[in-house]
Amino acid sequence: MKVIVQKFGGTSVATSQMRERVLHHIQSALTEDYQVVVVVSAMGRKGEPYATDTLLGLTKGEQLKNLSSREQDLLLSCGEIISASVLSSLLTHHGIENIVLTGGQAGIITNNQHSNAQIVSLNPKRLQEELKQGRVVIVAGFQGQTADGEITTLGRGGSDTTATALGVALQAEYVDIFTDVEGVLTADPRIVEEATSLEMVTYTEMCNLAFQGAKVVHPRAVEIAMQTNVPIRVRSTLSDGIGTLVVSRPERVGLAEISDRLITGITQMPNVTQIRIPADHLDQHLDVFRKMASNGISVDFISVTPSSIAYTVSDPLGELAKSLLIEMGLEPELYPSCAKVSVVGAGIAGVPGVMAKILEALTEEDVKVLQSADSHTTIWVLVPGDDMVKAIRALHRKFELHKY
Ligand code: ADP
Ligand code: ASP
Ligand code: MG
Repeated sequence: MKVIVQKFGGTSVATSQMRERVLHHIQSALTEDYQVVVVVSAMGRKGEPYATDTLLGLTKGEQLKNLSSREQDLLLSCGEIISASVLSSLLTHHGIENIVLTGGQAGIITNNQHSNAQIVSLNPKRLQEELKQGRVVIVAGFQGQTADGEITTLGRGGSDTTATALGVALQAEYVDIFTDVEGVLTADPRIVEEATSLEMVTYTEMCNLAFQGAKVVHPRAVEIAMQTNVPIRVRSTLSDGIGTLVVSRPERVGLAEISDRLITGITQMPNVTQIRIPADHLDQHLDVFRKMASNGISVDFISVTPSSIAYTVSDPLGELAKSLLIEMGLEPELYPSCAKVSVVGAGIAGVPGVMAKILEALTEEDVKVLQSADSHTTIWVLVPGDDMVKAIRALHRKFELHKY
């Protein structure tokens, strides 16, 4: 029998009204003769009682702030277990036989990197047995278990990863990621009102968008699906539309025209600090990056010239980086609260004029570019944080992404 994995994010399971919609999607899949695996996130967002952020907030108090990452994972894993159990009671009430499994019970084995564990293997035996019994299997997302039986979590947004990993292991026909938007959009709808939903994107485009800040699907989830070409559909819980299809190559689904698309979308990563250092010895260049590495500071957007170095760090690490550089006798200049805005596309490589168009859009809006870089799929610009929204909207307009 064909299998479908349906993942419901935090807002999709937050209220009884929303859970009625979840029920509707599960019933539709059963009507279409699918064996159904449901993956759920913790209920709601920040501020709501059982949301991940709320549970995380419990550890910030004086007594709790020293909670180890092992224990923190135990705490956080409860959010998804609560959500799965609540949904279970709804399904049972409607006569749908079901069982709830934790990540570990579903066969998800991870490494022991608490709070950001990676899946190392997945044994779907128990899941397959339950499906064979005619049950809907509800799996608590975002969690796994080490080979020694320790509970781990998969990093923020990790329920998507649970879903695609299960989809791959069960050779599912689709992994449906149900969320609060119609699909993958040309920009974050909270910033660009006229952002449009894309009918289809390739895994590569989706990975690029996700890595550059489009939080709608976790990039690791996409990488996993890509391994065996399990199609992902990003869909709205509130509607019956099929959303955005994420597959390997457009030709496969008869959408060849998509490959002609120059730009897929605009994304953003706010809250970064740019560091500029005048440095004219090669040794200095090397020392700077060694120093950052040995202090666990991850650097991004690196630009090295014979007379200077520029790079970014996340805002909270700015001051630490500055003091280390001053200790080394350097004179760093810091520009905090910047935003990395990315123009992501599949077809940018070798196309003349893209950068000119980006600068045109930004200049028209008086947005200063602090730094830029490019790859064959993406052009990044670093802008002052206060100008981020203006920059994204201007780029969206300039590339006419609302017309997709
Ligand atoms: P869930 O709780 O369902 O996992 P997330 O909050 O993780 O939902 O992801 C959905 C959110 O991602 C949307 O509400 C939207 O604001 C945001 N988002 C950011 N960029 C994009 C984009 N390019 N396309 C769609 N949604 C995006
Ligand atoms: N509940 C977890 C989080 O908020 C996992 C998820 O929603 O995917 O990050
Ligand atoms: Mg999410």
